[in-house]
Amino acid sequence: MTNKIGLFWFTNDLRLHDQPALSRAANGVETLICFAHSGAAWSQAKQRMTAELDKHRRHFHNQSLASLDSQLKALDQRLWVTKSDCLDALSKTIDSQAVTDVFRSEHAGWYENQLWDSLQAQFQLIRFHTVATHTLFDDKNRPFSIVDMPAGFNGVRKKLEKSEPHTPIASVTQLPPLPVSVSELEGLLALVDLSQIEHTLTTVFDQPSFVGGEQAGLDHLVHYLASGSASTYKQTRNALDGWQTSCKFSPWLASGCLSVRKVMTDLKAYEAEHGANESTYWIYVELLWREYFQWYAHRHAHKLFTHGGQANKQLECHAYERQLQSWIWGETAYPLVNACMTELRLTGFLSNRGRQIVASCLVNELAQDWRDGAAYFEQVLIDFDVATNWGNWQYIAGAGPENVNKKHFNLEK
Ligand code: FAD
Repeated sequence: MTNKIGLFWFTNDLRLHDQPALSRAANGVETLICFAHSGAAWSQAKQRMTAELDKHRRHFHNQSLASLDSQLKALDQRLWVTKSDCLDALSKTIDSQAVTDVFRSEHAGWYENQLWDSLQAQFQLIRFHTVATHTLFDDKNRPFSIVDMPAGFNGVRKKLEKSEPHTPIASVTQLPPLPVSVSELEGLLALVDLSQIEHTLTTVFDQPSFVGGEQAGLDHLVHYLASGSASTYKQTRNALDGWQTSCKFSPWLASGCLSVRKVMTDLKAYEAEHGANESTYWIYVELLWREYFQWYAHRHAHKLFTHGGQANKQLECHAYERQLQSWIWGETAYPLVNACMTELRLTGFLSNRGRQIVASCLVNELAQDWRDGAAYFEQVLIDFDVATNWGNWQYIAGAGPENVNKKHFNLEK
């Protein structure tokens, strides 16, 4: 057998449980390099903010990487995390280690896929593998092809509700060893030292907090279900505040520290033990929204970032920097919006209703380009997910499906 040398590029799949892409790599090569980039994203959203403002997102991402690294070390592996240019670092790794196979999870991001395509164009003689790990459905069980997906959420929901989501596969417990010449990477890549990053679950003011990493995500899932809050979810989900009012799965789902298939399987087990009701079902509906935006991003590619969206709508807006800055810094004429924007800036998180309210304000009251809001969210949200963020913004701005008009939340009410 020829010596197969694998490179696994971790992106939004920072875990060992239910990890079909890593499982494929583990079973397909003799030696393996696990690679990740320290930047939480490679997407080219307009970078408006100072580095300080994205500190929560960066911290959560670093914690997730540190946690993964310690899990890999327990399997005699390690995570090579670089801050060099991502494409350049991948190319150098492939060249220097004579990599034969590159693995990655399927990704909904257009820019991320451009990078993947560039890599394939550069290395035409090696094999590239992608496996879906971020969604409940994939090409095998999704009841429609991407090109034929219904335009709006309801059409997608109706079809998905008749299909069975994938269930999780067994965790990765063994990995191929590192290639013998791997230490050369130390001199080639600008590596990030994750050893000082704390990634165990802590509490802030007696409340659990968002800590990056697979174990923290799995622990949170257990705690959330054990609290019984899933049985009253539908009544509390739109609250602006509170740890138990909604699931708080999103940061771990977005980074892939937590598998959505694992969440669904545990939710079904909860229903079997405690009874299914409208609330437990509604968690599934929200996860279908997540699913919808993933396929929407795959379907519409770069149009996810255009002002008129996939339907090329004519949307009016102004470009007043002062309006945008007042929104970002919580200095608008609307106290509710200011409170939400301050919470977002100071924590990197905001409830779903809070996000809808501030997005609606930027688009309607302040009449600004929705993409500036989406780019700001991209920079600060600890649960940033390219498909979910830009898709939700398009939906609110009216840049989404043809027959969906923009949403306007009544700030007085
Ligand atoms: P819950 O309300 O308990 O929902 C459970 C899960 O369902 C969430 O964790 C999430 O994975 C999914 N979900 C819930 N609402 C949505 C939705 N509207 N669209 C897609 N999936 C959903 N969510 C992100 O994960 N990343 C983002 O970058 C993001 N950006 C957003 C931007 C805007 C303008 C808006 C209006 C919403 C955005 N959301 C985003 C969706 C939603 O606000 C968050 O997923 C949710 O608030 C996270 O809290 P939770 O985990 O308690 O969610």
